[in-house]
Amino acid sequence: MSGLQLSSITKKFGQVTAVQDIDLNIPNGKFVSFLGPSGCGKTTLLRMIAGLETPTAGEILLDGEDITPIPTHQRNIGMVFQSLALFPHLSVWENITYGLRIRSIDKASRRTKASELLELVRLPDVEDRRVSQLSGGQRQRVAIARALALEPKLFLLDEPLSALDAKLREEMQVELRILQERLGITTIIVTHDQREAMTMSDEVVVMSTARIQQMGSPLEIYRNPATAFVAEFIGTSNLINVKVNNAQEVEAHGERFAVQGIAEGLTAGGDGVLSIRPEEVHVLPESHQGANQLSGRVTFVRDVGASVETFVDCGDITIISLATPKERPDIHIGDQVKVELPSEACVVVRP
Ligand code: ATP
Repeated sequence: MSGLQLSSITKKFGQVTAVQDIDLNIPNGKFVSFLGPSGCGKTTLLRMIAGLETPTAGEILLDGEDITPIPTHQRNIGMVFQSLALFPHLSVWENITYGLRIRSIDKASRRTKASELLELVRLPDVEDRRVSQLSGGQRQRVAIARALALEPKLFLLDEPLSALDAKLREEMQVELRILQERLGITTIIVTHDQREAMTMSDEVVVMSTARIQQMGSPLEIYRNPATAFVAEFIGTSNLINVKVNNAQEVEAHGERFAVQGIAEGLTAGGDGVLSIRPEEVHVLPESHQGANQLSGRVTFVRDVGASVETFVDCGDITIISLATPKERPDIHIGDQVKVELPSEACVVVRP
């Protein structure tokens, strides 16, 4: 079978379980993010794929071959870390081709390769500079070029952009994705930034406390989060504790709400969490009659020009509605209103 397969991977450090029984299939050529809060195990998972940690249990297969016992330098993997780990005393081209030198490739070939790679990462004409003479973004490109020098089968990146300022970081995200598509190399990036993961990836693996919560395309996990954790971690969600009546209806605050669907594993009579994105919520005058509504009082309006957020206190829950300036409802702090939660935008997730 082609691609990367993780089968029942567990990693324990003494009493701490960093990764618990993870199964994962990554087809060749995909760009995948490991996304989750600090300490969820994403770096440990990446390090096991790289061969920098040995799993306590489970197997890692690359194109059908069990690479679990194979040391890092024999895995044909390119890596970029947050620290970059470039050699400051070497020139750019020597940094990029360091791995080739160790493999006794001659100097002329190494120089040609360095030029090609610098062209690829859009950083020509700096071959002979020292790394210490480059900007943060340029160093990033050198680290990427170096990781790609040995034409690896897998490209692994651990928070590679976190040291860059916001604007450069967004540019590099787009560039990295374009580069990956051109090369068609299977790429895994570790990040705790959901926007970064969603910008770049074919598939996002959302993790919390050593386990995978959900894997899917950015749009899938945004529209159909499987758990309350995913709904909160990916963007902003309004979350309401509910009782499940059936696959199309739940109950909360003494009201019934029609919903688009319920997550796998939820059953009638059980607890669930209704999740709806702020941009789907409508704020209406109090007199408005209709289904899927809650009454409340406006407690705050945040108008930042491009969007308007309205906070409505509906008893024990605050519902947030997000509108464009054109759709801005004529409301003010203190107004009694109705919030409408359209059924087609309501999904019910596991608590
Ligand atoms: P971060 O975003 O902060 O890097 P992470 O999601 O990458 O977090 P890991 O670094 O994989 O998380 O760590 C997962 C858990 O394993 C944490 O509880 C961490 O303290 C623990 N851990 C990681 N490496 C070691 C180690 N070498 N020895 C002991 N515990 C470790």
